[in-house]
Order: sequence, then structure tokens, then C-alpha cells
Amino acid sequence: MKNEKSQELFERAQKLIPGGVNSPVRAFKSVGGTPLFITRGEGSRMYDADGNVLIDYIGSWGPHLFGHNPPFIKEALLKALEDGTSFGAPTEIEVKMAELICDLVPSVEMVRMVNSGTEATMSAIRVARGFTGKEKIIKFEGCYHGHGDFFLIKAGSGALTFGVPTSPGVTKGTAADTLLAEFNNIESVKKIISQNKGEIAALILEPIVGNMGTVRADDDFIKELRDLCSEEKIVLIFDEVMTGFRVAAGGAQEILGVKPDMTTFGKIIGGGLPVGAYGGKREIMEMVSPVGPVYQAGTLSGNPLAMNAGYAALSYIKNNPEIYNELESKSARLEDGIKNAVKEAGKNFQLNRVGSMMTLFFTEEPVFDFKTAIKSDTELFGKFFHSMLKRGVYLPPAQFEALFVSTAHSDDEIDATIKAAEESLKEIL
Ligand code: PMP
Repeated sequence: MKNEKSQELFERAQKLIPGGVNSPVRAFKSVGGTPLFITRGEGSRMYDADGNVLIDYIGSWGPHLFGHNPPFIKEALLKALEDGTSFGAPTEIEVKMAELICDLVPSVEMVRMVNSGTEATMSAIRVARGFTGKEKIIKFEGCYHGHGDFFLIKAGSGALTFGVPTSPGVTKGTAADTLLAEFNNIESVKKIISQNKGEIAALILEPIVGNMGTVRADDDFIKELRDLCSEEKIVLIFDEVMTGFRVAAGGAQEILGVKPDMTTFGKIIGGGLPVGAYGGKREIMEMVSPVGPVYQAGTLSGNPLAMNAGYAALSYIKNNPEIYNELESKSARLEDGIKNAVKEAGKNFQLNRVGSMMTLFFTEEPVFDFKTAIKSDTELFGKFFHSMLKRGVYLPPAQFEALFVSTAHSDDEIDATIKAAEESLKEIL
């Protein structure tokens, strides 16, 4: 495919921006080649600087549940723009946003808006520590919670893709307070708790993981986690930055039927603008400044443009609950088609899907945790990625990520994607 313009931009970018990108996985480093520089997005399509048209399955890494630039979000933004971009003082749209979030996600009794998923998870941990008076936290191998120091220990997503799950720059002291458990393995959690009796403030997880590829928590595992945390007075935090408003209006917690003590959000909650949020039980959230002693603030937090975009997205979700059935049937169509293509190719590559999140792992053994995910043949994935790309299908450029289907993907586009997968598998195997 033509990419002269992208190559030229990438060369200029690399001179001044580390790796030429403002977030690592965008650089195509693990799959090789030049990242495409995007000029426009509309519905399920992205357009690049060389005039290529792509069916997009990244959706800005999750936010675009309705595809790119849906008219109702664009209108809300243009209207908000008329009144100014930022005030640093409270606005009604923040109140409406809080009311809507608490309505859609019943475990959230109070909520604070921030500017990214990373900010949401960092703040939630601080509040949990302040609330419990304890310092250690438990996270799971392969889960990604943003780039806060204490999360960059065996983390997923780009950290995993680039082979630096534990980043230099994180102090030994910080790392020592993060205890690592194995996903879907309750015994590994029990062992850590018994070895650190009375010292654990919080346990954080992606209840449906996207960042080692798609992996769903088993029902028993998640229920036992809930019970353990209640017994041991550990704050259970669901990181729903990716799953919130994506897998259901009430997030993964609605699907799994378990209520966490705190939840973090990002992506869809901002309607494509930089937004995150954390919330949970009233008694915990009342620890946050200025009601309580735990400090957390933000110059642009609750920004009116971001809130209007996010409110438009969440209102649409509230008023159109049928979109989740629509997403399910589109995604099931894609799943079935790709599974058939894999079978026809004589392979048993594993496809994990929950709603509109899915990952085709290039391994023939079931994937249910970090160790099983990393059995995937990442080199083969890279070939598949490029083969799909040249057929106009833009997948996440790394094996350990989820692809996202949006309401804007038509059945014809999904069928074209399946055809591309059939051809690509033939080509690379
Ligand atoms: N938590 C999860 C589950 C995520 O998927 C991400 C981002 N992919 C984050 C936290 C961090 O969010 P952000 O990139 O907005 O800081």
C-alpha cells in the first residue's frame, strides 16, 4: 500500500518525538513497518495521509463505541465550544455527568472526574490507601492500569509488547508495595494475602482484561475475589477504563454480577476527548479532598468540552440500550467468520471475545491468563497484521490487545473483514 507521506511524517516525527509517537504501541514497533498517519475518521473508517481508506478496529483504543465522529457528539462539542473552552470553576454539565454515571453504574455512589485512565487508577489507589491506612496493593500479571509507577510491574499492553513489563525508573520501594497475582488463579491471591496479613490496601484488576488480549475473569474467580476482599478489608477496584460502557451500559460488573468497592473509567466516558473518572462507595469517596484528607486535583478536570462530549456518549447509551444487542450480533458475526477462516486454514488459533472486545491469539492452547497469552506467536501475528492492513483492515498493531467493534461497522464491512482474514491466513501460513 502507498505510504510515502506517512514515511515522510514518521521521519520528521522521530527527530523530535521519542519513537515518533506520543504513545508507544502506535509506532508499529512490534509488527514492524511505518505507522500510518491519520488525517480523518468517519464512522467505521479512517483515512490516512496517503489517501488509504481503512476499516478501523481500534476506535482510538476504545473510546469510539459509535465509530468516529458520530453526529450527536460532534453537535454537543460545537455547541459547548460557543460558550468557551475551560473555566476552572464548577459547571452544570459536571453535575449531570456525575448523576448519569451513578445511574448507569449502581456501585458508583460518588465520582470524581480526571483527564485520563492513568489518572483515574493512580487516584483510586491513593484513596484506597488513605481509606484503609494500609500500603500494599495486589495487581495481576498482564493487567495494564496506565503508566503510574506502582502499576508498571509485569504490566500488559505496550509494556508487555515491548518486553519491559517492569519499567526502569520505578523505584525498588514502589515496586515492593505492588504484589503480583496470577489472573484467574484464586490460590495465588490467597497466598499473597496470607503472607501479607493486614497490609493490603487494595486489589485492582481488569475484570475483563483487554491488555493481555481479551481474557474474561471466570465467574467463580471473581466471586471469590469479592468475598476475600470483604473478609480482609481490602478495597476491590475494578479497572473499567476499557470495559466501562463497552461490554454493557453497567460495564463488566454488570456482566459478571459482582460489585466492586471502587471503579475506574476512561475511554468511552470522554466521547473521544481526554477524560477519566474514579468512583465508588460513598464512605470511600468521602476521603477525597476537599471533603476528606486525600489530595487529588486537576486544572482541566471536568473540562466543559470533555464533559459535553462524554455526556453525549453516555446519554446515547442510556437512551438506546439496544446498542449492546447490536454490538453483540455484529461482533458474533465477526467472531464466527474469523473462527471459520482459522479452521479452514487448518489451525486452532484461539479467539477470545466478550461483547465487542476480541482477540485472535496465535496459539492453539486456551488463553486464560498471562502465561497462556504469551505462548502466542507474535511474529506470525505481525505478518497477519500487515496482511490485513494491505487489504484495508486496521487492527491493533500488537498481539496483546483487544480489537473493538463499533455500532458503525456494517455487516458488509464485517464480511469484508472476514474475507480479508481468510486471504491473510492463507498468505501467511
Ligand atoms: N486501565 C486500562 C484497563 C486501560 O486499558 C488503559 C489504557 N489502555 C488505562 C488504564 C490507562 O488509560 P490512559 O491511557 O487513558 O491513561
